[in-house]
Amino acid sequence: MMNSADEASQVREFARRIGVPGLVDVHTHFMPERVLKKVWAYFDAVGPLTGVEWPITYRFEEEERVRVLREFGVVGFTSMIYPHKAGMAEWLNGWGEEFAGRTEGCLRTGTFFPEAGVEGYVRRAVEGGVRVFKAHLQVGAYDPNSPELEGVWGVLAEAGVPVVMHCGSGPVPGKFTGPGPVGEVLARHPRLRVIVAHMGMPEYGEFLGLAERYGEVRLDTTMAFTDFSERMAPFPKGELGRLRDLGARVLLGSDFPNIPYGYLHQLEALERLQLGEEWLRAVCWGNGARLFGLEPVR
Ligand SMILES: [Zn+2]
Repeated sequence: MMNSADEASQVREFARRIGVPGLVDVHTHFMPERVLKKVWAYFDAVGPLTGVEWPITYRFEEEERVRVLREFGVVGFTSMIYPHKAGMAEWLNGWGEEFAGRTEGCLRTGTFFPEAGVEGYVRRAVEGGVRVFKAHLQVGAYDPNSPELEGVWGVLAEAGVPVVMHCGSGPVPGKFTGPGPVGEVLARHPRLRVIVAHMGMPEYGEFLGLAERYGEVRLDTTMAFTDFSERMAPFPKGELGRLRDLGARVLLGSDFPNIPYGYLHQLEALERLQLGEEWLRAVCWGNGARLFGLEPVR
């Protein structure tokens, strides 16, 4: 692993070279300390379980992790929080508010779960200033078509607040992952701003199809196209043209800090797709800056 000052200067050099004033990363994980420790313990156990080692590159204290992102020139990022059971989401949302309040550059992030009262707390979160939500269909193991969530999708569609959704079937499928269940939600809420996490890995083509069909659907690049993911779930070369054509709705995401490689690798993995500098500028900066109304930091 290269030292952090070298890495930061290389990430900044990447941004300078492609001609963007900074990076917007819609998929970074900051969460309450004890939850993050559990997530890290999971990744530590994954190696022995699956044979695929998952060393966390940025296993630092919170303050240090924020500092590293700033040094990379990431001027907008999120704190992707998500519950695995009922009764947790409001507590996470309280933490998200507190974290964004003390962390410049963090877009206040919220989450939800199909449970009693969910529409009310999501509405309050939107009114209170949540900029982006996270929904994890694989970890949460819930159907996005649950009746409790019907009002939630309506609130989000009306407010135009995006929801980063882990709805693809990677790295392991869930009962409600894949393009089917979220596709049904979109059929009822065609203006819902779903940001498909991980490009919908491994169902890339089908999720590109949802974005082609619904003008507010976007995709985040999180872990996609990297050597790590290409070994397990390669992006089909035949779909590169569709990916290029959807360039206005692809957003940089990284999964920082829980990644088994350096941050620069995600950026280089996008560049080596050779979809052009205009595409790269839109993905790394323009699309996210426009969606969230961000200005360059001088
Ligand atoms: Zn993630």
